[in-house]
Amino acid sequence: MSGGGFLESVNQNFRKAASYTNLPSGLLAQIEACNSVYQMRFPVKIGNEYEVIEAYRVQHSHHRLPTKGGIRYSMSVNQEEVMALASLMSYKCAIVDVPFGGAKGGVKIDPRNYTTRQLQKITRRYTTELIRKNFIGPGIDVPAPDYGTGGREMAWILDTYLTFKNGELDGAGCVTGKPVKQNGIKGRTEATGRGVFYGVREACEHAEDMKALGLTPGIAGKTMIVQGLGNVGAHTAMISQDEGGVIIVGVAEYEGSIYNKDGIDIHALLKHRKETGSILDFPGAKNLKDRNSVLESPCDILIPAALENQITMSNVKKIKAKIIGEAANGPVTADAHQVLVDKGVMVIPDMYINAGGVTVSYFEWLKNLSHMRFGRMEKRFNQQTYGNLIDLIERTTGKSVNKREKAFIGRGADEIDLVRSGLEETMVTAYDDIRTTMKRSKRIPDLRSAAFVSAIKKISSDYISLGIFP
Ligand code: NAD
Repeated sequence: MSGGGFLESVNQNFRKAASYTNLPSGLLAQIEACNSVYQMRFPVKIGNEYEVIEAYRVQHSHHRLPTKGGIRYSMSVNQEEVMALASLMSYKCAIVDVPFGGAKGGVKIDPRNYTTRQLQKITRRYTTELIRKNFIGPGIDVPAPDYGTGGREMAWILDTYLTFKNGELDGAGCVTGKPVKQNGIKGRTEATGRGVFYGVREACEHAEDMKALGLTPGIAGKTMIVQGLGNVGAHTAMISQDEGGVIIVGVAEYEGSIYNKDGIDIHALLKHRKETGSILDFPGAKNLKDRNSVLESPCDILIPAALENQITMSNVKKIKAKIIGEAANGPVTADAHQVLVDKGVMVIPDMYINAGGVTVSYFEWLKNLSHMRFGRMEKRFNQQTYGNLIDLIERTTGKSVNKREKAFIGRGADEIDLVRSGLEETMVTAYDDIRTTMKRSKRIPDLRSAAFVSAIKKISSDYISLGIFP
């Protein structure tokens, strides 16, 4: 399916959810529309030749500023795809109460075809184009990593920005997902995957919902298939296995897919892929026919964490999972989603379940603006207070707390503890908000529509209080 199909899919879902609100059509049309689309072409010298690179930055909504959204490097990039992803960002930020408008960037390249130096040249030139048109800045528009990009690219963007904006006090907040040593924040790399884990775990907590799926409550012991072992997929799989007791039974990557009903140790698989360049031929697991086959294998939870349009009308009837956590953006098309809902499958929507990345990006941006690491002021003070409390308990009870327990209880929170705590709170609160919206309404049939309704209400309330709509 083309990017146009993806955009239509997002807007179709939007309109379906909009019908459950009683907001005026003009206001709904303003929320749905992409406000600014910047399409660019720029030359970059690759070897002895010049290549003309096609790229985009789309700002979907300015109801809150700055706008925020990742940058994707992929050959599938086109204007509609970036518009669809920017739209999802606005709804996503609203759902998790991150005070940004939505945006997205895309560069139409396959990063595997370029050397690190060449990628750096492309990234720096793309950033320069954004600066030229005032499409980047800590109070304007703040990019982050997405498919095909990571901390390395974000550091290049930061350096290019600061070269042009020398002395800008809050300049470090022009981009998030930076390496920790380059004004990044601990926990950003794992954030999207960790958020997926918290979200799925929360969904599994509700006994009534699990009963309807024929499952027992709790995430522990549930089987999971993951498509895409990149940033999002690998962290989702590792955290679900290590902290949730989930059994990973299937994995898909570019080169193919594997299945083992007894479980695949995700750390051993990542090591195997590093050593051999492939997930295939992993001891104990079966190589399947192609990379898409594993999507149709039996499991409780399916995590598509690669790209959009993976579950479509052509394979939806063969999907056996009871829960689908849309870690990627737009992995299920609107028509396939309807089939899943009719079948009673729980689809936890992308705009909620993968919002952990933007949530921790928000924390990183706040850190950049405050010019200080989280926990620096209070860590020692808290440690001292907890220590005094333990002493008091020991004195009054006459019993002593052992050294290990003392160290555990008396510890002040580090940046990573605070980031994880803030992320968990965000994901749990947002899930309950979506679920309650669905349960209370009686008309809203699925979590995706409920998530949209929640986002539409928050964005419309901004437009109304800004005086843009009466
Ligand atoms: P990534 O580039 O780190 O990883 C994607 C992985 O998917 C790669 O390893 C790639 O080889 C694999 N892949 C591609 N096509 C595949 C296919 N057909 N079958 C199996 N594997 C395939 O990208 P990422 O950052 O993990 O992003 C993945 C998805 O998550 C995207 O949809 C992105 O928009 C979304 N997302 C990412 C973030 C983030 O913080 N990185 C945040 C929210 C949403």
